[in-house]
Amino acid sequence: MSKRSTISAAECGGGHGAAALSVDEALQHIASQVQPVSGFEKVALRSALGRVLAEDIYSPIGVPAHTNSAMDGYAVKHRDLPESGVTKLKLVGTSLAGKPFSGPVAHGQCVRIMTGAVMPDGTDTVIMQEQVEREGDTVRVGGDHKHGQNVRAAGEDLHQGQLVFAAGKQVWPPELGMLASLGLGEIVVKRRVRVAFFSTGDELRSIGEALSKGEIYDSNRYTLFAMLSRLGVDIIDMGVVRDDREATKDAFLEAARNADAIVTSGGVSVGEADYVKETLDAFGRVSFWQIAMKPGRPLAFGHVQDAVFFGLPGNPVSVMVTFYQFVAPALRRMMGQSDTNPVSVFRVRCQSRLKKSPGRTEFQRALLERDEKGELVVRSTGQQGSGLLHSMSSANCFVILPSGSGTVEPGTLVEVQPFYGII
Ligand code: AMP
Ligand code: MG
Repeated sequence: MSKRSTISAAECGGGHGAAALSVDEALQHIASQVQPVSGFEKVALRSALGRVLAEDIYSPIGVPAHTNSAMDGYAVKHRDLPESGVTKLKLVGTSLAGKPFSGPVAHGQCVRIMTGAVMPDGTDTVIMQEQVEREGDTVRVGGDHKHGQNVRAAGEDLHQGQLVFAAGKQVWPPELGMLASLGLGEIVVKRRVRVAFFSTGDELRSIGEALSKGEIYDSNRYTLFAMLSRLGVDIIDMGVVRDDREATKDAFLEAARNADAIVTSGGVSVGEADYVKETLDAFGRVSFWQIAMKPGRPLAFGHVQDAVFFGLPGNPVSVMVTFYQFVAPALRRMMGQSDTNPVSVFRVRCQSRLKKSPGRTEFQRALLERDEKGELVVRSTGQQGSGLLHSMSSANCFVILPSGSGTVEPGTLVEVQPFYGII
């Protein structure tokens, strides 16, 4: 008996004609059924990009390591500055970034200092170069300066031993730079999650083959390849699996042997003349759901042996929508990420009329842009057919319309989920 439970078809609206499952119910059920992989490995810093930290990172040093100047200017003793008027200080040397001034600084003396250079012993304040007058070794300076100004104290950003990143953080450009700034050359990261994927359907042809009547090129496998690659998992492309009992069974068993998760497209809708459901009823613990969403209504989820399984619908846009809404958060969880849903959703005024009937959550393709006043607004890209992959390319965001919502009139605030972030 497996530890993992499977919601029965009846409980989950899996039976055709049964009540549909909401997007949130499906998300909750999936989250309860997937666990982070336990393996980890040590990699060189650069190879940590896109990986997930397996351990908390504590700073081995203070940052900055030495008290230094935040400006190009002159390092002085604040008590040498006049109450009013101007005083003359004697220039005794220079402190450059990486080449500190090593001598003592006596009363009435100052040191030329550059941004990032170590503050000479005995100095505590930096006067910007624009605020002094200099003649040879003489620097004339007024009194209107705060003690400690333009100085970055040692350990000001991070003190030694401070928690920098908690395990579960994915390493992106800022983290990579931060880890480098701590002098860490090797990082312990979660092992990569392995995902096997294949397409099902007798109508599918691979690139390079000629199309006969009724046949189409298998595009879903390329979309999946791209989405999985971007997520940072190891991929196993198993090609197209024919609508054939033995081939389907062999494919699922091979995928389950080699991967932590299996993603397929096609063959989960009502009345499919293929063997996905039949095979999984025999070998898996899989629910066939009807989800109250558009696009992407049919979705199969469960386990095939120890591998997590997602059976996505065949329509190209449905594949993308269900991948981003369900598969990506689940895979992030398996990767060990603490933030499994990093894509932000925010509210923006919609300029178009969006046709909708209550009862399903809709993910409409739309364009987020600025209007004449410079304000962010969103408008529909028009055609919403789930077969038109082009509608994803001409859009830059989803407008997410909640299940209860009817048609949206222009001027209404709607939830927007952008496709791209800058990092
Ligand atoms: P299905 O969910 O298998 O009924 O497929 C729904 C629609 O998506 C059908 O029009 C299929 O031809 C199409 N489709 C299924 N798999 C793919 C694929 N791998 N690439 C492109 N279109 C597909
Ligand atoms: Mg099919």
